[in-house]
Amino acid sequence: MSIDERQLQSLHGQAVEWRRHLHRHPELSFKETNTSAMIADLLESWGLEVRRGVAGTGVVAKLTGGLPGRTVALRADIDALPIQDAKDVEYASEVPGVMHACGHDGHTAELLAVAKHYSMNRERTAGTRVFLFQPGEEVLPGGAIGMIADGALDGVDVVYGVHLWTPLPCGTIATRPGPLMAEPDEFEIELRGSGGHGGLPHEARDALVAGAHLAVALQTVVSRNVDPLEAAVLSIGQFRAGTARNVIADSCRLSGTVRSFTPEVREVVRGRMDDIIRHNSALHRVDYTFEFYEGYPPVVNDPSEAARVLRVAAEVHTDGEVRECERIMAGEDFSYYLKERPGCFFFVGAGRADGSSAPHHHPGFDIDETALRHAIRLLVAVADDAASDLQ
Ligand code: MN
Repeated sequence: MSIDERQLQSLHGQAVEWRRHLHRHPELSFKETNTSAMIADLLESWGLEVRRGVAGTGVVAKLTGGLPGRTVALRADIDALPIQDAKDVEYASEVPGVMHACGHDGHTAELLAVAKHYSMNRERTAGTRVFLFQPGEEVLPGGAIGMIADGALDGVDVVYGVHLWTPLPCGTIATRPGPLMAEPDEFEIELRGSGGHGGLPHEARDALVAGAHLAVALQTVVSRNVDPLEAAVLSIGQFRAGTARNVIADSCRLSGTVRSFTPEVREVVRGRMDDIIRHNSALHRVDYTFEFYEGYPPVVNDPSEAARVLRVAAEVHTDGEVRECERIMAGEDFSYYLKERPGCFFFVGAGRADGSSAPHHHPGFDIDETALRHAIRLLVAVADDAASDLQ
């Protein structure tokens, strides 16, 4: 049963209103108190069975249809980021320093619309729908672990999630079988020498020069050690040393991120980082600490569920493009659901056609709200297809 186009138009209008409300009132990870109250109140008003306070500020809701079928879970993340909204629009964030800069407001709004659709079509719905409104996607260890530990996937046969994605033009739907998104690890290195007078370097051990050599040496970790047919990234995002022009720095901190798709590649990168940091420190007579923080596992789609999403999208998404995409180096804690159940994570394009949209996590980030319409229609069609699939 695909969604009625007149109903879709009305649901889309409401989704835009909810999205704009959430955009004005963003809340940080695990502090989504008002957001989750709004979600739970709406779901209850439509007669769904609602559980509040899952994994802290998460909400899980359930709707059992009038016809037999499987149990399908649909997930939205609900948190915002510590970024100052720089947009000049009437729905700009009203909270200083906090902003929905990754589109999770849209995820929440579109999933609310999907839940409302099912509440209006309960008797004609096959199987059960479980709605997962997850807190804290943006900070490690993420909200998905807590949701699962709190029973969010109990009785669930298959799980799907959407990310609105501005690098893709609005109108495009994309996913792929197997690995889709990377494992986003982070690291922190501190080098400690001894400071001194800029004119008397022989009396000091310069941590800044040691750090500069290290920043360059680490560029060989991926290029000279990882199989070129595998994918990995090592990016140093911060380099901090020194206090004055004429003072030799006694410490230097480098921090950054490592991205990969398999545990084997991650271990090659971590092992070579360890070697290079140790030997570089000996070379420059500095001490060091090296912390490596493991991020979310890679997002790996079930091949037959990815095929289902691409097939159903081609059937219902007739006013846009559907395609298999490349892997991308961003991470997502939807991976934890996919470790527990078959399922698929997919992208719904939300950017401008000319590619001029601000990237995710940017102060100017915004979505084309037409994408909410595409996401609602596809989520319903995929969930219905999966619920009726008795294999
Ligand atoms: Mn996100």
